[in-house]
Amino acid sequence: MPSIKDCVVLAGAELVPHRCREFGWKHDTIDRMELGHPCTQLEHGTLLVVPGLYNSHTHLGDSALPDGAAGLTLEEGFFRPHGYKYRELAKLDATTHRGHIAAAQRYMARTGTVGHIDFREQGVFGSKLLREASATTGVDSIILGQFNESPFAEETLAANTATLPDSARAELTTLLQIADGFSESTMNDLTDTAWREIKQATSAAGKRRAIHCLENPGYRSLSESRTGRGDLIRAIELLEPDLIVHLTHADANEIKLMADSQISAVLNPQANTTLGLPVPPIMPLLRAGVNLLLGTDNVMLNPPNLWAELNFTYRLARSQAGEAQASQPDPAAILRMVTSNIAGCLGGDHHGHLAPGLPATFAVLDFTAEHLGHTRNLMTTLVTRMGAENVLATLRQGRELWRHDAFDAY
Ligand SMILES: [Zn+2]
Repeated sequence: MPSIKDCVVLAGAELVPHRCREFGWKHDTIDRMELGHPCTQLEHGTLLVVPGLYNSHTHLGDSALPDGAAGLTLEEGFFRPHGYKYRELAKLDATTHRGHIAAAQRYMARTGTVGHIDFREQGVFGSKLLREASATTGVDSIILGQFNESPFAEETLAANTATLPDSARAELTTLLQIADGFSESTMNDLTDTAWREIKQATSAAGKRRAIHCLENPGYRSLSESRTGRGDLIRAIELLEPDLIVHLTHADANEIKLMADSQISAVLNPQANTTLGLPVPPIMPLLRAGVNLLLGTDNVMLNPPNLWAELNFTYRLARSQAGEAQASQPDPAAILRMVTSNIAGCLGGDHHGHLAPGLPATFAVLDFTAEHLGHTRNLMTTLVTRMGAENVLATLRQGRELWRHDAFDAY
């Protein structure tokens, strides 16, 4: 049976580092964690076993177009039907496109990521393509499909009364047979009546829902001008999503709405800054008790490497906490955004932490490297100094998704 001896393991949902005499697994399940004392710093190098990371907001569909949107605004780069992303994706044949998506997933695996929640464009075709790529790489894709084309014209959206056209309803039914749920870009893409239909159809099919909110101030103001209410309150009341993405412009009232709703939020600060947007209110959301997750958003904007996103997020939150609050944020709270917090959103077999009897879903990090082996604060080092080169192996349910050539320790 495979095992790793004399290592450090982040144990349990609180991610407490412990010395571990043996971390072992049988088939797809952890069956041994012989924990020693907790350890917050290292005297000499060791291997570190951490839960496999989850990236809770990706668009792997545009992994074929790295930096294609450089120099474009959010609307010019990403909005349907004429945005750069949609025009360019339409030109790709399926084999080429699938190859790019699988390459992005292999890169995720070599950076310690085992799964992602993907907001997949291109309707039924798009969701199928990602499902096929995922089957080849073993990376867990939770696919939230989107209509291939916007069902409503501008004037119909402005009137805000129309029901979903029959063609969209039929597309949704087929989409939900392949995808794990439904997403749209913004609340402004559908009418209030259509959102109620989406909620009903996804609930009936036992599927998930997600939506982008408050990415820029236009999301709120357009929603107010058409419906009298902002996009976040409409999302919470009409759609009741499992997941709300961005919140870059959330004010104090909207942060309270999020906390009261108990809906999970996904933050994407690197993607936000790349588009010239402000950074999200990470510390206020943390203090309000919102279940926070982290994503890297479009591969076109940002490589899907969560270590870089964790580093950026920790430092931003630290700056927002201020000089006097030197212990804020707890680095473990930042790491939970890509590990154990996923249980509060996805549930089921998505635990995001390590314990005997749970899935053998983990990454092995090389803390024998000279610049890491003497850390005085292990958790801070974990969220600020990791790179792809430090990941020796990534396993999901016992299946090896990535292993470094030099690593043969189990
Ligand atoms: Zn997105």
